[in-house]
Amino acid sequence: MLVVQKYGGSSVADADRIMAVATRVARTREKADVAIVVSAMGKTTDNLIALAQQLSTAPDPREMDKLLATGEQASSALMTMALQSLGCKAVSLTGGQAGIITEVVHRKARISKIDPTRMRRELDKGNVLVIAGFQGITEHASWADITTLGRGGSDTTAVAVARALDADRCEIYTDVEGVYTTDPRIVPEARKLDSVSYEEMLELAGQGAKVMHSRAVELGELYDIEILVAHSQTEAPGTVIRHEDEQMEIRNPVRGIAHDAKTNRITVASVPDIPGAASRIFHALAEKNVSVDIIVQNVSSKGVTDLSFTVNDEDFGTALAVTTAVAKDLNAGEVTVDEDVAKVSIVGTGIRSHPGYADKMFSALAEAGINILSITTSEIRITVLINSDDIQQAVRVLHQAFELEKA
Ligand code: ADP
Ligand code: ASP
Ligand code: MG
Repeated sequence: MLVVQKYGGSSVADADRIMAVATRVARTREKADVAIVVSAMGKTTDNLIALAQQLSTAPDPREMDKLLATGEQASSALMTMALQSLGCKAVSLTGGQAGIITEVVHRKARISKIDPTRMRRELDKGNVLVIAGFQGITEHASWADITTLGRGGSDTTAVAVARALDADRCEIYTDVEGVYTTDPRIVPEARKLDSVSYEEMLELAGQGAKVMHSRAVELGELYDIEILVAHSQTEAPGTVIRHEDEQMEIRNPVRGIAHDAKTNRITVASVPDIPGAASRIFHALAEKNVSVDIIVQNVSSKGVTDLSFTVNDEDFGTALAVTTAVAKDLNAGEVTVDEDVAKVSIVGTGIRSHPGYADKMFSALAEAGINILSITTSEIRITVLINSDDIQQAVRVLHQAFELEKA
């Protein structure tokens, strides 16, 4: 039996918490082989980013990865020392030492493969593996550079390692008891879900529910790995992310509400209304690895149209520079930005078969006096862009309107 467990930043924030986790891990080790993945301690990653920004307005992505990867290396070494002090054999591994190979992209590299040889050898020696999350290494042919997987990426490390080692269980331990109907820090009445489908969790995570990294959920679905999300300090049962359960048609069609305040809107005025104009802009953004979200193109008049889209905080600087350059090439008008916007989404597989959910969502927001700036949908999600001042209230009124506090 092999168990993979991931412990997030707040669960390893100081020496006491590291020791508490080590004690749990040592107990699990009595019954199974264990590989754990750790995040950087507390706010370490944020602090390292802030430090870099004091020295450079546009830090080199390669150097950023080298810097940020140290956070997880420190916590993995400290966790290993704690385990050893409890008499539990353990060894720490960087992403590269664990055999995690990524594409040659910095700050949000995707894992291309994992060579489990070293991990297997250490497990065979009786060690608990303590893997530094959120990082990998490029192939030797690409100079074996250190890469990171994007904010929140330790979850993805854990699921990928579970797959590479063919683990029996994959458990994500964090500072809440599982996946809730919405962020319990905003809505105290939010209800913990016993289970949630990959599809729903993917949409929730993609729209800001940071309890899981969306790429971890994607890998779970791809390789059919059930993922348990639970609290690192209690024995509460947690939430299982897995394929849809039988109750699908008779439960509340809305499963959860996600919000994301780390978004920004970029608008290009007077884009020539000719074939290929939008593609020029989005092609340039894609080349720089910028993910674009809510895209709105207005009805054209006099041969020009306004085009706007949203990007997250991390991509904002690059996106603005790229868009400004292409807008100039296209002879378009001014590029303007709005950083005070936020997204709120309702998610549920039942949405696709129940009409009227958009109406209910928009009415609830209207009654609360919240203005909608733009809208996007998927089959199982409706997302609206609003002013960031309204975000907490929007989450609360929607949670209430869809009666998510009730089972
Ligand atoms: P970790 O450091 O363990 O990776 P994160 O801070 O990344 O933890 O994610 C856990 C946080 O996610 C919680 O503290 C909670 O505030 C937030 N969160 C947002 N949406 C949800 C949700 N639907 N269910 C549970 N937690 C959520
Ligand atoms: N330490 C990284 C971050 O803060 C990765 C993680 O915690 O998953 O984003
Ligand atoms: Mg996280």
